[in-house]
Amino acid sequence: MADTKGLVIVNTGNGKGKTTAALGLGMRAWGQGLRVLVLQFIKGNWTYGELQAAERMGADFVIRQMGEGFVRNSADDERADHMQASKEALEDARQEIMSGAWGMIILDEINYALGYGLLPVDEVLELIAAKPDYLHLVLTGRSACKEIIDKADLVTEMGEIKHPYKQGIRAQKGIEF
Ligand code: ATP
Ligand code: MG
Repeated sequence: MADTKGLVIVNTGNGKGKTTAALGLGMRAWGQGLRVLVLQFIKGNWTYGELQAAERMGADFVIRQMGEGFVRNSADDERADHMQASKEALEDARQEIMSGAWGMIILDEINYALGYGLLPVDEVLELIAAKPDYLHLVLTGRSACKEIIDKADLVTEMGEIKHPYKQGIRAQKGIEF
């Protein structure tokens, strides 16, 4: 891994495909023998297909759900829970990033957690600066902040042209979960 240039990659924007593109990268990396860790900062409601896929892929493709569900209201006690969960997720991310055990780490929905003020952006910037050179670090979620975009090597903005929800089509297995 010595000659590998680990990239900082951001998938952002309002269109669908940020998390799934990151998982696709993870699968590509895993196929090349890199160990891949996905840390989910915001837990969704569903049993996601990728969790079941990762179980079958084994110890070199791990997905860990860290956060609480999406922030739906701003009740102070609920917000405190979210902040605590995000803080613990960031601490876990720090340990895993510095452990040297992984070739790619995906911090899923971290932009969302930052956007909601659940995490201090400075700490995430410090983490990006301190990561091992070879490690590919992927950050997903809407509304990536400028400071993170400035530090990234690859930034993709998913733009919505159509989304089935807008036509009243319900979430489909294998597409949304
Ligand atoms: P995916 O996990 O499918 O790659 P994503 O990571 O880009 O999606 P998130 O911002 O994490 O999307 O949002 C999660 C949920 O919101 C998904 O179920 C997704 O389909 C839905 N969603 C994403 N973009 C839109 C949109 N433009 N309109 C309506 N719903 C959307
Ligand atoms: Mg997502």
